[in-house]
Amino acid sequence: MSCLSIDREPGCRALRILNMSTSTPTTIYWFRQDLRLQDLPGLQAAIASGRPVIPCYIFDPDSAGDWAPGAASRWWLHHSLASLAASIEALGGELLLLQGDSRALLRELAAANNAHNIYCSRAYEPAAAELEQQLNQSLSADGRSLKRYPGSLLFEPEQIANQSGLPFKVFTPFWKACRRQPQPSMPGATPAAGIFAEPANIASGPCQARTLQQLKLLPEQPDWASHWSELWQPGESGAGDRLQQFLRGGVARYSEGRDHPALEVTTRLSAHIHHGEISPRQIWHAAMAMMAEQPSLEQELNKFLSELGWREFSCHLLHHFPQLPEQAFKPLFDNFPWLGQAAALEAWQRGQTGYPIVDAGMRELWQTGFMHNRVRMIVASFLTKHLLISWQTGEAWFWDTLVDADLASNACSWQWVAGSGADASPYFRIFNPTLQGQKFDKAGDYVRQWVPEIAALPDKHLHEPAAAPADILASAGITLGQDYPEPIVDHRQARQAALAAYQAIKAA
Ligand code: FAD
Repeated sequence: MSCLSIDREPGCRALRILNMSTSTPTTIYWFRQDLRLQDLPGLQAAIASGRPVIPCYIFDPDSAGDWAPGAASRWWLHHSLASLAASIEALGGELLLLQGDSRALLRELAAANNAHNIYCSRAYEPAAAELEQQLNQSLSADGRSLKRYPGSLLFEPEQIANQSGLPFKVFTPFWKACRRQPQPSMPGATPAAGIFAEPANIASGPCQARTLQQLKLLPEQPDWASHWSELWQPGESGAGDRLQQFLRGGVARYSEGRDHPALEVTTRLSAHIHHGEISPRQIWHAAMAMMAEQPSLEQELNKFLSELGWREFSCHLLHHFPQLPEQAFKPLFDNFPWLGQAAALEAWQRGQTGYPIVDAGMRELWQTGFMHNRVRMIVASFLTKHLLISWQTGEAWFWDTLVDADLASNACSWQWVAGSGADASPYFRIFNPTLQGQKFDKAGDYVRQWVPEIAALPDKHLHEPAAAPADILASAGITLGQDYPEPIVDHRQARQAALAAYQAIKAA
């Protein structure tokens, strides 16, 4: 028996007194992007094995290759793990935190704890799927097995195919096929207390437990996320609260309101969903229950479910086309003449393009780790079509700065906007950022919140300060080029250049 140091954060202590015999058979539950206790089929199966369950999480960024979690995601992950650890502790268990190569660590942990099986939820990113395969092979060599369960999607990728048995490449028939499936089964329960075990003493080996702080997921010097805990509540209960808040409020005007960034109409559940703090099945059934209770909300709820459908579609595409985060889905775009100008990229990243709705979105992203969907589309279109900077560059920036950064949704959405994706927006649909602002932020509340230096402009000129008469700018106290940038590109010229570039690749 040994006693190791104790960290003060609740639920995240290092290994304490470890008194389980190494011969007691156990089971390991390996948490991944499923940081919850309720409705977790893999955990339920581990419990049903009848053996004590060792809950563990492994921080293994190397196994994700180029797509290790970005800085904003790490902030979320830290708090989500703290929340999960506290929930496990409330049930009398302890979340074992490890860091390093998942394959080696899980083999070691299984051997040290006489665990025949390791249970987990299936993941769909190419690197995660490959990791599962490798792990399964190495565990079988030891006479053990990896048991993977669904839980992160409504419909498994193998379940949905077109009439020729091939994956759908267009959203509408995909979602219709999903809706023809039997309803996803009802969510499972939260486990009862007393099912978790402490691991046998492995403190001196590679499986030495880490404290949450040792994972170093939080930003330091500067701590740019110091105010984020006021904005977000990562973890299972925060996810449930968001869903309830939406069902009590935003849902009633979801279809129309979801395009207006100043209205808090959408759920803001994406980071919770990405980290698996709530399952899509829980959301589905909450929506269905609401539909039964208030049939007048059926249309709004179906629209909402179809947005979850876009998440499903993205995951299905990534599963069938694993090169999606790096390569254009339409090979035509492989030779697109991107410009990649550093100064223009920096102006976009900092929200200094001179187009207020673009700048508002990029600043919202930087300051909160989130950006409204409509504005994501506008800034992505601006980057790829006005600045002719590649969608992969934008995708990488979002990856690092979004709390909901998700390989499938991010890659598909960027390709959708850039015109290179499956079921993409036609290339020639080039958003006019001024008109988009005027249409979706008519009263200017969103722009005024994030671009306060132009807040005093009247609504009429707010979305196009460069076209405002000199006396209006003067009375709002704005000198263009000094207080707020001149537009870094002219919309008409940029549009023509983008269309010419597209014609060139089509003709090549
Ligand atoms: P709601 O409107 O409340 O929708 C409910 C849920 O449905 C969301 O939480 C999300 O899980 C899913 N969803 C909604 N819209 C989409 C969509 N278009 N594609 C896929 N899933 C969707 N979403 C991410 O989760 N991670 C990303 O990295 C990501 N990158 C994006 C990049 C670009 C360029 C664009 C245009 C969109 C991206 N999206 C991404 C999709 C979408 O913007 C967000 O899911 C949505 O804004 C999250 O807000 P919400 O939770 O309030 O959405």
